[in-house]
Amino acid sequence: MSERVIVHVDMNAFFASVEQRDNPHLRGKPIIVCGNPKSRTVVAACSYEAKALGITNGMSVFEARQLYPHVILVGGNPEKYVDAARRIFAICVEFTPQVEVFSIDEAFLDVTGTWRLFAATPEDLARLIKQRIREAHGLTCSIGIAPNKLLAKLASDLQKPDGLIRITDAHLTALLARLPVETLCGVGEHLKAHLNDLGIVTCADLGRAPASMLTARFGLIGASLKRMGQGVDERPVGMFNEEADVKSMGHAYTLPRDTEDNEEILGTLLRLCERVGRRLRADGYAGRTISLTVRYKDFSMISHARTIPYAVDSGLRIYQVARRLVEASCRPLPQRVRLLGVSVSHLTRHQRQLSFLEEELRLERLDRCLDRIADRFGECCVVRASASTPLTPKSHGFLLKHRRGLVLG
Ligand SMILES: [Mg+2]
Repeated sequence: MSERVIVHVDMNAFFASVEQRDNPHLRGKPIIVCGNPKSRTVVAACSYEAKALGITNGMSVFEARQLYPHVILVGGNPEKYVDAARRIFAICVEFTPQVEVFSIDEAFLDVTGTWRLFAATPEDLARLIKQRIREAHGLTCSIGIAPNKLLAKLASDLQKPDGLIRITDAHLTALLARLPVETLCGVGEHLKAHLNDLGIVTCADLGRAPASMLTARFGLIGASLKRMGQGVDERPVGMFNEEADVKSMGHAYTLPRDTEDNEEILGTLLRLCERVGRRLRADGYAGRTISLTVRYKDFSMISHARTIPYAVDSGLRIYQVARRLVEASCRPLPQRVRLLGVSVSHLTRHQRQLSFLEEELRLERLDRCLDRIADRFGECCVVRASASTPLTPKSHGFLLKHRRGLVLG
């Protein structure tokens, strides 16, 4: 069998580039895309001009501003990014049906059987893909080409922005001897520290390490780690399937200030659950596993999940589970809370259990009604009245909160 040709397309500073593309005033400037620019939040993406100043993704906006006070903050537009990503993946599918969406701005393409239809070399094909994306959407990407996904991803990381690198067998050995282990996708800070402890610094070190030592230290993944160090990866590229890519849906919110106020915590939690439920319903999903993330004042974080026997898409049902997770894992509250997150996974489509109970039907009607109001007035205008009072079947009243603070019954 001939060697596989795998392409990894990675959009450059994706969210920030979309914003710069759409607003000429932002071009060539250090910008940060974040949640609500008025509240405390983290850097979701930054332009290359901001990166040059030392700003990185995941940093708090406060830290970023300390590095460069004039950095421009832009509120994120998730729908716009998802739409742009869909269009870009649609371009990828023109070159092969084997496109695996890896994240919102990355995809693997197996072009083994198709690249000759479009170009004289795999590099020419990559140039064609880059050109199509640039002309259609005004965005640049870095492309890595290699015999497998692991190396293709590694290659696209080697040159940014607008890069194009092909790794072939001819220079693989020299490359693995040069690159540190953490350049391998899947080797994070934690694993890197453990590997360094064992004297493993480069990819080649990892490839040479005795499998028995790696297995003794890391268990089952030991053997895979060794193969990664050798640049071996036999995983196939999946087929493009938009629906299969949705694994979970969630929202997180950084509170305006750290709090230990029970009402504020539960109120925020309820609003998050309502948002998650609304998104699930909008896309026709329901899920069985509800996860709670709490980040405390000192940035330490806990995550807990509970799986229930049936799939839910109601904000209130999600909240009931999330609230139990809070009671079980955060009581007494060890310190002030900085961020709350809720997500729902184990998603199924259109397979929600039919609810025969009158109460379920009532909840469903209420949810549809809330959705319609939110559609008209914007998300988060509608909140249930009581977050911290016991949720008896009769207490699901809701308030319509207008942006100016007007409260309707
Ligand atoms: Mg990227």
